[in-house]
Amino acid sequence: MSNLHDIPVTTRTGCGERPVLRERGQREVFCGLTGIVWLHRKLQDAFFLVVGSRTCAHLIQSAAGVMIFAEPRFGTAILTDRDLAGMADANDELDRLCVTLLERRPEIRTLFLVGSCPSEVIKLDLARAAERLNARLLPQVRVLSYSGSGIETTFTQGEDAALRTFVPLMPHTDARQLMVVGCLPDVVEDQFRRQFEQMGIADVVFLPGRRASDVPAIGPNTDLLPAQPFNGDTVRALVARGARLLHAPYPFGAEGTTAWLEAAARAWGVTPAAFDAVTAPARARAETALARQRPLLAGRSLFMLPDSQLEPSLARFLHRELGMRLIEVGTPFLDRQMVSEELALLPEDAVLSEGQHLERQLDRVRAARPDLTVCGLGLANPLEAEGLATKWSIELVFSPIHGYDQAGDLAELFARPFARRARLAV
Ligand code: SF4
Repeated sequence: MSNLHDIPVTTRTGCGERPVLRERGQREVFCGLTGIVWLHRKLQDAFFLVVGSRTCAHLIQSAAGVMIFAEPRFGTAILTDRDLAGMADANDELDRLCVTLLERRPEIRTLFLVGSCPSEVIKLDLARAAERLNARLLPQVRVLSYSGSGIETTFTQGEDAALRTFVPLMPHTDARQLMVVGCLPDVVEDQFRRQFEQMGIADVVFLPGRRASDVPAIGPNTDLLPAQPFNGDTVRALVARGARLLHAPYPFGAEGTTAWLEAAARAWGVTPAAFDAVTAPARARAETALARQRPLLAGRSLFMLPDSQLEPSLARFLHRELGMRLIEVGTPFLDRQMVSEELALLPEDAVLSEGQHLERQLDRVRAARPDLTVCGLGLANPLEAEGLATKWSIELVFSPIHGYDQAGDLAELFARPFARRARLAV
């Protein structure tokens, strides 16, 4: 996938902001369809129907390959040459396919029509298709649509686009509640819910929840606590519905998790003593787990190529809690509203870059020869062949990494390449 705007590298600074290297050039990032892989696992009553090509089908089939033993809750309506040439009415075909699918799978309550590059190129209007199908299928099934196309989205933006579709459906509430925004594995959601409850914060909702049909309410007494830095559009839509955004670093590592939980605790008037009583044991466990990984990571240099938008948060964790030396922290988009707290915690000497210009970034990786490079799947093998240790960023969105009890596992994901090399060297 390439971007035609091959403009020179520029450095941008704003009032009180750290400099950012802006890159616009060839990209090497998955498209937003990838989000279906973790969203379909979470939303147990939803089906994701990609309206796309065989390439799109291959992408989600191979990305979700480990799931084939279960009845999948995703599929691809493949646009044929006749659709692309305008010789068949793709809308009629799509309606017919959706109705057949829903007859076969009566447990589905929400059907997402997911746009792709081909559906956008032929200007197939999936929002109108959803409206048309809703007129026929509501209230048994609700049809929603969003774009996961590589023209419009990268990798993690698919989740943001999917969650954003819930916001107009949310009923209004004046009740006080805490809303955690971002797809979390059930086990992590349960841990956070328990910790909030123990602090006395009982009215907690998660977006997304386990059922797409259970749409939470929203209103002026809702506090938003984002759990993923890449859901900025959803958060802004929720703020436009009156909710209040709590700013915090993300719950990666002992420090990040404490700061994230503290943001909610402060907003809800939890006393420091009550907060410590709830968090101290889990925090101590996390610190012990991190201490085990630190000898493998401390002092090692790290280069993060832009991929998942988790990069500033993970860089903060790897630097502050594990002693890694940051050379460059790249992110596909820098959404300052979502990562302001993280940026404040990054060391001054780390280069922060936004966007991608593949050749220039690879030149910098080769010049720096970092101990570890975090990158997409397509770059890992070539860099490994050049003797550079790599970590696939996609693993970081597929693995449970949030919260105290996952802190050690998160560190271990980065320590593994060093442990493997150490074993090979013996
Ligand atoms: Fe490729 Fe576009 Fe389909 Fe993604 S949506 S798999 S980038 S064709």
